Amino acid sequence: MALGALKRLIRQDVALDLGTANSLIFLQDEGVVLNQPTTVAMDRDGRLLSFGEEAKRILGKNPPDIKVVRPMRDGVINDFEAVGLFMRAIVEAARRIKPVFSSKIVICVPSQLTQVEKRLLLEAARSAGFKKIFLIEEVMAAAIGAGVDVSAKRPCMVADIGGGTTEVAVISEMAYLFCHSRRVAGDEMDQAIMGYMLKEYGLRIGPNTAEKVKWEIGSATGFDGANKLAIEVAGQDLRRLSPTSVTVGGLEIQKALSDTVDHVISAIQDCLFMLSEELRREIEQTGLLLTGGGSMLRGLSALLTQRTGVQVSQPMSPLTTVVEGAGKTLSDFAFFNPVFVN
Ligand code: ADP
Ligand code: MG
Repeated sequence: MALGALKRLIRQDVALDLGTANSLIFLQDEGVVLNQPTTVAMDRDGRLLSFGEEAKRILGKNPPDIKVVRPMRDGVINDFEAVGLFMRAIVEAARRIKPVFSSKIVICVPSQLTQVEKRLLLEAARSAGFKKIFLIEEVMAAAIGAGVDVSAKRPCMVADIGGGTTEVAVISEMAYLFCHSRRVAGDEMDQAIMGYMLKEYGLRIGPNTAEKVKWEIGSATGFDGANKLAIEVAGQDLRRLSPTSVTVGGLEIQKALSDTVDHVISAIQDCLFMLSEELRREIEQTGLLLTGGGSMLRGLSALLTQRTGVQVSQPMSPLTTVVEGAGKTLSDFAFFNPVFVN
């Protein structure tokens, strides 16, 4: 066995997608080994109690002495301590799957991070044991992960609808011709469902329940199977102050989501208008790559095509394209060098 291959067998380079909703770890020869909500639970003294699924489960239901935090809310670092805790926790969990990593990591970050935030992430990665740390912006990684040749001159447009933000970029020759981020995405859809249940049924539900309703029966305007969908939703009845449940239908959730869906679509549409005439014409020919968990809402991509007139393509697995793109940069590091932002 060649020395390089042997080294790789022992020590693998790592890619981490630090999303506002979900974080994923990719190891060079194994692919995606972990996918966990970007959430931590801490005690009063800031010590880690749990992270990922386990922490998310108690989000909104935590006792007063436990703090549950989403460290990357809205495309910015929401809690500096928490992001460090989370990064160490997820890396440690990956080490339980594969005990030895190389000291090199590629981290996918939102495009609007400040220099201070970037420095902080570098520090957190250092304290998680990495020495060679490279940052790549999520939309760039998404394009690579979806198989786009980002080195080509021909521009490609990518929209990534995540938890906190919708990020749009036009990429050519490994650089942005345009990049824009707006704070409206999946989280806001959950908020809209919570607001609807409260207003319509006097039912208070938590963000996890709202998200489940969205997954199970949510859709964008124009999706015509909505009337066949229904789900029982449990929550707290505000009038009687007792737990109760109601059955809601797909059509009413579609209506509840329609303003937020409009905002998400306008975020992408506005970007098309911000492009030069020439660039817009090119994008109208090449189409738009739509990714991120938020893009999985039923009927959303069809509505986007209808509103913009641009053909929309979606990768097989919108929740993993970003980390897979970062993973690809590990295998051809010299070639992809221009895409790193630090
Ligand atoms: P981030 O990159 O910001 O962490 P993700 O790309 O992981 O975000 O997407 C997370 C968002 O996608 C969440 O709001 C989640 O509820 C939403 N999502 C995931 N699956 C679906 C689905 N099937 N339908 C609608 N929304 C979904
Ligand atoms: Mg993402």
